Amino acid sequence: MKAAVLHQPKTPLVIEDVAIGKPGPHEVLLRTAAVGVCHSDLHFLDGAYPFPMPVVLGHEAAGVVEQVGSEVRTVKPGDHVITCLSAYCGHCEHCLTGHLSLCVEPDTKRREGEEPRLLANGAPMNQFLNLSAFAEQMLIHEHALVAIRRDMPLDRAALIGCAVTTGMGAVIHTARVSPGETVAVIGCGGIGLATINSAAIAGAGRIIAIDRVPGKLELAKQFGATDVINAADVDAVEAVRELTRGGVHHAFEAIGLKQTAEQAFSMLRRGGTATVIGMIAPGVKIEIKGTDFLAEKRIQGSMMGSNRFPVDMPRLVDFYLSGKLKLDELISRRMPLENINEAFDELRRGELARSVIMFEH
Ligand code: ZN
Ligand code: ZN
Repeated sequence: MKAAVLHQPKTPLVIEDVAIGKPGPHEVLLRTAAVGVCHSDLHFLDGAYPFPMPVVLGHEAAGVVEQVGSEVRTVKPGDHVITCLSAYCGHCEHCLTGHLSLCVEPDTKRREGEEPRLLANGAPMNQFLNLSAFAEQMLIHEHALVAIRRDMPLDRAALIGCAVTTGMGAVIHTARVSPGETVAVIGCGGIGLATINSAAIAGAGRIIAIDRVPGKLELAKQFGATDVINAADVDAVEAVRELTRGGVHHAFEAIGLKQTAEQAFSMLRRGGTATVIGMIAPGVKIEIKGTDFLAEKRIQGSMMGSNRFPVDMPRLVDFYLSGKLKLDELISRRMPLENINEAFDELRRGELARSVIMFEH
Protein backbone atom coordinates (compact mmCIF):
# COMPACT_ATOMS: atom_id res chain seq x y z
CA MET A 1 0.00 0.00 0.00
CA LYS A 2 1.00 3.63 -0.48
CA ALA A 3 1.96 5.69 2.56
CA ALA A 4 3.62 9.05 3.25
CA VAL A 5 6.87 8.33 5.09
CA LEU A 6 8.93 10.74 7.20
CA HIS A 7 12.62 9.73 7.19
CA GLN A 8 14.15 12.76 8.90
CA PRO A 9 12.65 15.74 10.75
CA LYS A 10 12.28 18.88 8.61
CA THR A 11 12.31 16.93 5.33
CA PRO A 12 9.31 16.42 3.02
CA LEU A 13 7.23 13.26 3.38
CA VAL A 14 7.93 10.67 0.68
CA ILE A 15 5.16 8.55 -0.86
CA GLU A 16 6.39 4.95 -0.69
CA ASP A 17 5.22 1.34 -0.67
CA VAL A 18 4.76 0.09 2.88
CA ALA A 19 3.73 -3.47 3.76
CA ILE A 20 0.93 -3.89 6.29
CA GLY A 21 0.29 -7.02 8.36
CA LYS A 22 -2.83 -9.11 8.98
CA PRO A 23 -5.03 -8.40 12.03
CA GLY A 24 -4.06 -10.15 15.25
CA PRO A 25 -6.89 -11.32 17.58
CA HIS A 26 -7.76 -7.79 18.81
CA GLU A 27 -6.79 -5.83 15.69
CA VAL A 28 -8.68 -4.32 12.78
CA LEU A 29 -7.51 -3.63 9.22
CA LEU A 30 -9.02 -0.49 7.72
CA ARG A 31 -9.21 1.05 4.28
CA THR A 32 -8.47 4.72 4.96
CA ALA A 33 -11.09 7.01 3.40
CA ALA A 34 -10.00 10.44 4.63
CA VAL A 35 -7.44 11.91 7.01
CA GLY A 36 -7.11 15.45 8.33
CA VAL A 37 -3.71 17.15 8.42
CA CYS A 38 -3.35 18.27 12.04
CA HIS A 39 -0.94 20.72 13.62
CA SER A 40 0.29 17.95 15.94
CA ASP A 41 1.64 16.06 12.91
CA LEU A 42 3.59 19.20 12.04
CA HIS A 43 5.18 19.32 15.51
CA PHE A 44 6.67 15.87 14.86
CA LEU A 45 7.53 16.61 11.23
CA ASP A 46 9.42 19.75 12.26
CA GLY A 47 11.21 17.91 15.07
CA ALA A 48 9.71 20.00 17.91
CA TYR A 49 8.67 16.68 19.46
CA PRO A 50 10.93 13.64 19.04
CA PHE A 51 9.72 10.39 17.43
CA PRO A 52 11.63 7.36 16.08
CA MET A 53 12.05 7.42 12.27
CA PRO A 54 11.18 6.30 9.68
CA VAL A 55 7.51 6.79 10.52
CA VAL A 56 4.15 7.15 8.82
CA LEU A 57 2.46 10.16 10.49
CA GLY A 58 -1.27 10.99 10.47
CA HIS A 59 -3.81 10.50 13.26
CA GLU A 60 -7.16 12.09 12.27
CA ALA A 61 -8.84 9.48 10.12
CA ALA A 62 -12.04 7.79 9.08
CA GLY A 63 -12.31 4.63 7.03
CA VAL A 64 -14.03 1.35 6.29
CA VAL A 65 -13.29 -1.95 8.05
CA GLU A 66 -11.72 -4.53 5.72
CA GLN A 67 -10.80 -7.34 8.08
CA VAL A 68 -11.11 -8.02 11.81
CA GLY A 69 -9.18 -10.25 14.24
CA SER A 70 -10.70 -13.41 15.74
CA GLU A 71 -11.68 -11.74 19.06
CA VAL A 72 -13.08 -8.47 17.68
CA ARG A 73 -16.80 -8.13 18.44
CA THR A 74 -17.54 -4.39 18.15
CA VAL A 75 -17.02 -3.95 14.38
CA LYS A 76 -17.26 -6.09 11.24
CA PRO A 77 -16.06 -5.74 7.64
CA GLY A 78 -17.87 -2.93 5.84
CA ASP A 79 -18.46 -0.84 8.98
CA HIS A 80 -17.63 2.85 8.78
CA VAL A 81 -15.34 3.94 11.60
CA ILE A 82 -13.48 6.89 13.08
CA THR A 83 -10.05 6.24 14.61
CA CYS A 84 -8.61 7.83 17.76
CA LEU A 85 -5.08 8.09 19.13
CA SER A 86 -6.51 7.58 22.64
CA ALA A 87 -6.32 3.79 22.38
CA TYR A 88 -7.31 2.44 25.80
CA CYS A 89 -6.51 -0.90 27.46
CA GLY A 90 -9.79 -1.14 29.36
CA HIS A 91 -8.35 -2.47 32.63
CA CYS A 92 -5.91 0.10 34.12
CA GLU A 93 -6.87 2.59 36.84
CA HIS A 94 -7.39 5.42 34.31
CA CYS A 95 -9.68 3.30 32.14
CA LEU A 96 -11.63 1.91 35.11
CA THR A 97 -12.27 5.40 36.50
CA GLY A 98 -13.51 6.68 33.15
CA HIS A 99 -10.37 8.54 32.09
CA LEU A 100 -9.66 6.59 28.91
CA SER A 101 -7.60 9.36 27.32
CA LEU A 102 -4.99 9.09 30.11
CA CYS A 103 -4.35 5.37 29.50
CA VAL A 104 -0.70 4.66 28.61
CA GLU A 105 -0.69 0.86 28.99
CA PRO A 106 1.22 -0.80 26.12
CA ASP A 107 -1.45 -3.50 25.58
CA THR A 108 -2.81 -1.78 22.47
CA LYS A 109 0.54 -2.03 20.69
CA ARG A 110 2.27 -5.16 19.37
CA ARG A 111 4.84 -6.60 21.77
CA GLU A 112 8.58 -6.58 21.33
CA GLY A 113 9.51 -9.62 19.25
CA GLU A 114 6.17 -9.74 17.42
CA GLU A 115 6.12 -8.85 13.74
CA PRO A 116 5.56 -5.06 13.46
CA ARG A 117 2.27 -3.83 11.98
CA LEU A 118 4.14 -1.90 9.28
CA LEU A 119 7.25 -2.91 7.29
CA ALA A 120 9.19 -1.18 4.52
CA ASN A 121 11.70 -3.16 2.44
CA GLY A 122 11.68 -5.82 5.17
CA ALA A 123 12.61 -3.35 7.94
CA PRO A 124 10.21 -2.20 10.68
CA MET A 125 8.35 1.04 9.97
CA ASN A 126 7.27 2.95 13.11
CA GLN A 127 3.54 3.37 13.67
CA PHE A 128 2.60 6.87 14.82
CA LEU A 129 0.36 7.10 17.92
CA ASN A 130 -0.93 3.58 17.27
CA LEU A 131 -2.48 4.81 13.98
CA SER A 132 -0.25 5.99 11.06
CA ALA A 133 -3.09 7.39 9.01
CA PHE A 134 -1.25 8.96 6.04
CA ALA A 135 -1.60 5.60 4.33
CA GLU A 136 -4.09 3.72 2.17
CA GLN A 137 -4.65 1.17 4.94
CA MET A 138 -4.33 1.14 8.72
CA LEU A 139 -3.80 -1.83 11.07
CA ILE A 140 -4.87 -0.80 14.57
CA HIS A 141 -6.09 -2.12 17.92
CA GLU A 142 -9.86 -2.51 18.24
CA HIS A 143 -9.78 0.04 21.10
CA ALA A 144 -8.50 2.72 18.71
CA LEU A 145 -11.67 3.01 16.64
CA VAL A 146 -15.45 3.30 16.89
CA ALA A 147 -18.20 2.48 14.38
CA ILE A 148 -20.44 5.33 13.20
CA ARG A 149 -23.68 5.84 11.24
CA ARG A 150 -23.49 5.04 7.52
CA ASP A 151 -25.08 8.37 6.55
CA MET A 152 -22.10 10.30 7.95
CA PRO A 153 -19.72 11.53 5.20
CA LEU A 154 -16.26 10.11 5.90
CA ASP A 155 -14.25 13.24 5.07
CA ARG A 156 -16.08 15.18 7.76
CA ALA A 157 -16.02 12.16 10.10
CA ALA A 158 -12.21 12.22 9.92
CA LEU A 159 -12.13 15.64 11.62
CA ILE A 160 -13.94 14.14 14.61
CA GLY A 161 -10.92 11.82 14.94
CA CYS A 162 -8.81 14.58 16.51
CA ALA A 163 -9.66 18.30 16.18
CA VAL A 164 -13.34 18.15 17.03
CA THR A 165 -13.07 15.56 19.81
CA THR A 166 -10.24 17.62 21.31
CA GLY A 167 -12.11 20.94 21.16
CA MET A 168 -15.46 19.54 22.25
CA GLY A 169 -13.91 17.46 25.03
CA ALA A 170 -11.91 20.40 26.38
CA VAL A 171 -15.16 22.35 26.76
CA ILE A 172 -17.47 19.56 27.96
CA HIS A 173 -15.18 17.17 29.85
CA THR A 174 -12.02 19.02 30.91
CA ALA A 175 -13.43 22.48 31.68
CA ARG A 176 -17.13 21.61 32.09
CA VAL A 177 -18.40 24.92 30.77
CA SER A 178 -21.87 25.75 32.17
CA PRO A 179 -24.63 27.59 30.30
CA GLY A 180 -24.16 31.36 30.48
CA GLU A 181 -20.47 31.32 31.40
CA THR A 182 -18.03 33.44 29.40
CA VAL A 183 -15.39 31.80 27.23
CA ALA A 184 -12.28 33.05 25.42
CA VAL A 185 -10.48 30.94 22.83
CA ILE A 186 -6.93 31.84 21.77
CA GLY A 187 -6.11 30.49 18.31
CA CYS A 188 -8.73 29.88 15.63
CA GLY A 189 -7.27 26.95 13.67
CA GLY A 190 -9.11 23.63 13.46
CA ILE A 191 -9.07 22.92 17.19
CA GLY A 192 -9.83 26.53 18.19
CA LEU A 193 -12.83 26.65 15.86
CA ALA A 194 -14.09 23.31 17.22
CA THR A 195 -13.68 24.73 20.74
CA ILE A 196 -15.72 27.82 19.83
CA ASN A 197 -18.43 25.65 18.24
CA SER A 198 -18.52 23.43 21.33
CA ALA A 199 -18.78 26.41 23.68
CA ALA A 200 -21.81 27.51 21.66
CA ILE A 201 -23.36 24.02 21.91
CA ALA A 202 -22.64 24.01 25.68
CA GLY A 203 -24.59 27.27 26.00
CA ALA A 204 -21.73 29.63 26.85
CA GLY A 205 -22.81 33.25 27.10
CA ARG A 206 -20.13 35.33 25.48
CA ILE A 207 -17.60 33.51 23.31
CA ILE A 208 -14.57 35.62 22.47
CA ALA A 209 -12.32 34.44 19.62
CA ILE A 210 -8.71 35.65 19.53
CA ASP A 211 -6.33 35.32 16.55
CA ARG A 212 -4.02 37.42 14.40
CA VAL A 213 -5.50 36.42 11.01
CA PRO A 214 -8.65 38.38 10.05
CA GLY A 215 -9.96 35.51 7.87
CA LYS A 216 -9.86 33.12 10.81
CA LEU A 217 -11.72 35.60 13.00
CA GLU A 218 -14.46 35.82 10.35
CA LEU A 219 -14.66 32.02 10.38
CA ALA A 220 -14.82 32.09 14.20
CA LYS A 221 -18.03 34.17 13.99
CA GLN A 222 -19.63 31.46 11.82
CA PHE A 223 -18.67 28.90 14.47
CA GLY A 224 -20.41 30.82 17.25
CA ALA A 225 -18.02 33.53 18.46
CA THR A 226 -19.97 36.51 19.78
CA ASP A 227 -16.89 38.78 19.83
CA VAL A 228 -13.55 38.68 18.06
CA ILE A 229 -10.19 40.21 19.01
CA ASN A 230 -7.31 40.63 16.59
CA ALA A 231 -4.24 40.14 18.79
CA ALA A 232 -2.07 41.78 16.12
CA ASP A 233 -3.80 45.12 16.82
CA VAL A 234 -4.55 45.14 20.55
CA ASP A 235 -3.46 43.56 23.84
CA ALA A 236 -5.70 40.48 23.97
CA VAL A 237 -5.73 40.29 27.78
CA GLU A 238 -6.77 43.94 28.18
CA ALA A 239 -9.41 43.56 25.48
CA VAL A 240 -10.96 40.48 27.10
CA ARG A 241 -11.00 42.12 30.54
CA GLU A 242 -12.71 45.16 29.11
CA LEU A 243 -15.32 43.16 27.15
CA THR A 244 -16.22 41.01 30.17
CA ARG A 245 -15.68 43.59 32.93
CA GLY A 246 -12.89 41.72 34.68
CA GLY A 247 -12.18 38.53 32.76
CA VAL A 248 -13.72 35.27 31.52
CA HIS A 249 -14.84 32.16 33.40
CA HIS A 250 -12.95 29.96 30.93
CA ALA A 251 -9.99 30.62 28.66
CA PHE A 252 -8.81 27.99 26.17
CA GLU A 253 -5.34 28.05 24.64
CA ALA A 254 -5.38 26.30 21.24
CA ILE A 255 -1.94 27.13 19.83
CA GLY A 256 0.71 25.68 22.19
CA LEU A 257 2.85 28.70 23.03
CA LYS A 258 4.23 30.01 26.33
CA GLN A 259 2.96 33.53 25.72
CA THR A 260 -0.60 32.52 24.85
CA ALA A 261 -0.82 30.01 27.72
CA GLU A 262 0.16 32.81 30.10
CA GLN A 263 -2.34 35.13 28.46
CA ALA A 264 -5.09 32.53 28.91
CA PHE A 265 -4.42 32.54 32.67
CA SER A 266 -4.17 36.35 32.82
CA MET A 267 -7.55 36.92 31.15
CA LEU A 268 -9.50 34.92 33.78
CA ARG A 269 -11.91 36.46 36.25
CA ARG A 270 -11.66 35.46 39.92
CA GLY A 271 -12.38 31.72 40.17
CA GLY A 272 -11.80 31.22 36.44
CA THR A 273 -10.07 28.29 34.76
CA ALA A 274 -7.55 28.29 31.92
CA THR A 275 -7.40 25.11 29.86
CA VAL A 276 -4.29 24.55 27.72
CA ILE A 277 -5.11 22.40 24.68
CA GLY A 278 -2.13 23.33 22.48
CA MET A 279 1.06 21.27 22.60
CA ILE A 280 3.70 23.30 24.45
CA ALA A 281 7.20 22.38 23.25
CA PRO A 282 9.28 20.21 25.63
CA GLY A 283 11.33 22.27 28.11
CA VAL A 284 9.18 25.40 27.89
CA LYS A 285 8.08 26.78 31.29
CA ILE A 286 4.88 28.71 31.91
CA GLU A 287 5.08 31.70 34.31
CA ILE A 288 2.01 32.85 36.18
CA LYS A 289 1.47 35.20 39.10
CA GLY A 290 1.40 33.30 42.40
CA THR A 291 -1.00 35.83 43.93
CA ASP A 292 -3.63 34.80 41.35
CA PHE A 293 -4.11 31.56 43.31
CA LEU A 294 -5.63 33.69 46.09
CA ALA A 295 -8.32 34.51 43.54
CA GLU A 296 -8.83 30.76 43.01
CA LYS A 297 -7.69 30.91 39.41
CA ARG A 298 -6.77 27.56 37.91
CA ILE A 299 -4.73 26.36 34.95
CA GLN A 300 -5.00 22.81 33.62
CA GLY A 301 -4.03 20.69 30.64
CA SER A 302 -6.41 18.84 28.36
CA MET A 303 -5.23 15.71 26.56
CA MET A 304 -7.40 14.94 23.52
CA GLY A 305 -10.31 16.62 25.31
CA SER A 306 -10.31 14.14 28.22
CA ASN A 307 -12.34 12.04 25.79
CA ARG A 308 -14.27 8.81 26.15
CA PHE A 309 -14.21 8.59 22.37
CA PRO A 310 -16.31 5.42 21.85
CA VAL A 311 -19.17 7.34 23.48
CA ASP A 312 -18.25 10.86 22.36
CA MET A 313 -17.64 10.35 18.65
CA PRO A 314 -21.04 8.86 17.70
CA ARG A 315 -22.64 11.76 19.63
CA LEU A 316 -20.57 14.27 17.66
CA VAL A 317 -21.75 12.57 14.45
CA ASP A 318 -25.34 13.09 15.65
CA PHE A 319 -24.54 16.75 16.38
CA TYR A 320 -23.25 17.20 12.83
CA LEU A 321 -26.17 15.44 11.16
CA SER A 322 -28.64 17.51 13.19
CA GLY A 323 -26.92 20.74 12.14
CA LYS A 324 -25.39 21.71 15.50
CA LEU A 325 -21.77 20.83 14.76
CA LYS A 326 -20.00 22.64 11.92
CA LEU A 327 -17.64 20.46 9.94
CA ASP A 328 -18.16 21.57 6.31
CA GLU A 329 -16.72 25.00 7.11
CA LEU A 330 -13.74 23.45 8.90
CA ILE A 331 -12.44 21.83 5.70
CA SER A 332 -10.60 24.41 3.65
CA ARG A 333 -9.18 22.01 1.07
CA ARG A 334 -9.33 18.37 -0.06
CA MET A 335 -6.32 16.80 -1.78
CA PRO A 336 -4.79 13.41 -2.71
CA LEU A 337 -1.98 11.86 -0.62
CA GLU A 338 0.56 12.91 -3.27
CA ASN A 339 0.03 16.59 -2.34
CA ILE A 340 0.46 16.13 1.40
CA ASN A 341 3.56 18.32 1.65
CA GLU A 342 1.50 21.27 0.35
CA ALA A 343 -0.91 20.78 3.25
CA PHE A 344 1.99 21.10 5.72
CA ASP A 345 3.34 24.21 3.98
CA GLU A 346 -0.10 25.77 4.35
CA LEU A 347 -0.27 24.79 8.03
CA ARG A 348 3.12 26.45 8.61
CA ARG A 349 1.82 29.65 7.04
CA GLY A 350 -1.21 29.43 9.35
CA GLU A 351 -3.64 30.33 6.61
CA LEU A 352 -6.21 27.58 6.49
CA ALA A 353 -8.56 25.85 8.85
CA ARG A 354 -7.91 22.26 7.76
CA SER A 355 -6.77 20.24 4.75
CA VAL A 356 -8.14 16.73 4.32
CA ILE A 357 -6.34 13.99 2.37
CA MET A 358 -8.84 11.93 0.38
CA PHE A 359 -8.16 8.36 -0.76
CA GLU A 360 -9.60 6.95 -3.99
CA HIS A 361 -10.10 3.21 -3.75
ZN1 ZN B 1 -4.43 16.10 15.96
ZN1 ZN C 1 -6.06 1.67 30.38
